[in-house]
Amino acid sequence: MTIRFENGIVATLGKDNRVLWNGTVVTDEDRIAAVGDAAEMAERFPDAEVVDCSGKIVLPGFICAHHHFYSTMARGMAPPGEPASNFVEILERFWWKLDMALSEEDITLSAKIPLIECIRNGTTTIIDHHASPSHRDGSLDLIEDAVREAGLRASLCYEVSDRNIPGGGTAENERFIKKIGKGDGQIAAMMGLHASFTVSDETVETCVGIAKDAGVGCHIHVAEDLADREDSIAKFGEPTVKRLHGLKATGERSIFVHCIHIDESEMDVLADTKTIAVHNPESNMNNAVGVTKLLDLLKKGVLVGLGTDGMSSDMLSQMRCTYLLHRLDNRDPRVAFMEAPQLLLQNNAEICERQFGIRLGEIAEGRPADLAIIDYLPPTPLDETNFLGHLIFGLVDATVDTTVCKGKILMRGKKILSLDEERIAARSRELAPKMWQRL
Ligand SMILES: [Zn+2]
Repeated sequence: MTIRFENGIVATLGKDNRVLWNGTVVTDEDRIAAVGDAAEMAERFPDAEVVDCSGKIVLPGFICAHHHFYSTMARGMAPPGEPASNFVEILERFWWKLDMALSEEDITLSAKIPLIECIRNGTTTIIDHHASPSHRDGSLDLIEDAVREAGLRASLCYEVSDRNIPGGGTAENERFIKKIGKGDGQIAAMMGLHASFTVSDETVETCVGIAKDAGVGCHIHVAEDLADREDSIAKFGEPTVKRLHGLKATGERSIFVHCIHIDESEMDVLADTKTIAVHNPESNMNNAVGVTKLLDLLKKGVLVGLGTDGMSSDMLSQMRCTYLLHRLDNRDPRVAFMEAPQLLLQNNAEICERQFGIRLGEIAEGRPADLAIIDYLPPTPLDETNFLGHLIFGLVDATVDTTVCKGKILMRGKKILSLDEERIAARSRELAPKMWQRL
């Protein structure tokens, strides 16, 4: 099907961002066929279906480089016992009880709800990190089915750890990685690991071996809290990144999430091995674990992406949080204006190219047809030179009207078309209290 997304403000992004007023994006099945002036596109594609985008800005769909769908049902839950006073207690008293309590239906609903929220926020591609120790086998298939039904793209993995049984989840990753193979551009697979402090050398070596044989990367939390660094130094004589590098878990397809408590020599290892780092500022603030030295990582040439870590599915709010946090952290109002959007708009696209083998994040002929179409009447002139100012101070609070992935309209006029939002939320409200009781 050919569709003209017509007469909006089109920001193409990509290397040479162009802002076209009265612009049209033409999609043909799952690819962008053309982008240009609305009148010219109407002449070239007269038979296309038309979606009016006046009063809106058309952007490439957003990418979340680290998410945890499974955390959905924690919303509104009273944590059991005394309040956790540090990061390890947050895991032990909260997340490791919650993930154990998930049933198969909980896993599916926990995926569908954030997928709906991704569609609502124009997030069309997600790199997820899953845990459900009571239902490991087949859990990634349940999430894959939910992602395909939603119509989005996702890279999936199971977070292997030794906390329940040694190497728990290794087989699920291996099975899923083999099933997905090179992938179809919609679903990709990675080798997931929880974190350095929950995996032995043997577990990491086994997982890295499977990942290398399959040509996929490892997706692991790294130095999120000081405890991870201290554990690595105490047990293995090296800080976290160096330990994992020694076990060959680094590499251009591997994602090291957080990288907060790392030193300069570890940043050099990330840069030298082209290992990806992913920043999750809202989660880091929520867990009170510290601030990633984002500007230093970028100066070293590390590819740093942006994720939500399960906090939300709203990438524009993560971008603005990045902008605000690093201005404050550096006590410098000159920084982060370029860097925060860079993480979201450029780096996340490059990360996805390494995972999915396709180039997202740009509206250009031949690129995948993934779009976020947002209500926006600019109150000041808008062009290529000041787009970032509109992004950080205007679009961040604007409402997504229409979301398109693989050329399919998943939300139009703010109505979700691919999933039954009300039915899914109602069922989740039924099951969540039962899951909370199992904690
Ligand atoms: Zn995480």
